[in-house]
Amino acid sequence: MDMKDGAPPPLRLRPELAICEHCDSVHQRGPLAPGEAADCRVCGATLYRRSRLDIDAMLALTVAALIVFVLANAAPIVTMQSAGVTTRGWLMTMVASAWSHGVGPVAAIAAGTVFLFPLAQLALYLFVLHAARLPARPKGFVAAMHGLRWLRPWSMVEVFLIGILVSIIKMSSLARVTAEAGLWGFGVLTILLTALSTFELRALWEIHDGR
Ligand SMILES: [Zn+2]
Repeated sequence: MDMKDGAPPPLRLRPELAICEHCDSVHQRGPLAPGEAADCRVCGATLYRRSRLDIDAMLALTVAALIVFVLANAAPIVTMQSAGVTTRGWLMTMVASAWSHGVGPVAAIAAGTVFLFPLAQLALYLFVLHAARLPARPKGFVAAMHGLRWLRPWSMVEVFLIGILVSIIKMSSLARVTAEAGLWGFGVLTILLTALSTFELRALWEIHDGR
């Protein structure tokens, strides 16, 4: 090696190679299926892995959840018939009614856990998943990822759903209560949000780190 001029030799990057962090042995990288990991042939340590995460599937799920979210909020949840009077209940009219009947904290919790938090969660999912398809991490990605981790436990559409079902059963002796499209919408939304929550957010960090 010629070191006469004192400059170090130019560094040549070899992305097709993987070096084991544990035993320094060098391996040729090969293609992996989603969820698979490559192990070191010498010491057995994990060299690198391919995420199980399918960004396109998650994006499709997020868009579907947003559409269902809009439909569930636009459609009435229940219809009540009592003494010839028919009353329809939407999520927002229920929240407003709880507010005007002096149970402000209940109204605020319902508005947060069933409307605001799920909506914010879906918007953040849309942002970080779109970001994962970009060549570099956009501004706000880190904040969005932290926001998602914080919001996840606060989105409680399923609790609301159980509450509504219990109310329908309890009120059915007093009035004729019918479940409407909004209730089914929130049911589907619960399933979609649960499916989204099974994806490991950690894998999104690795997408740009591995590039
Ligand atoms: Zn090794």
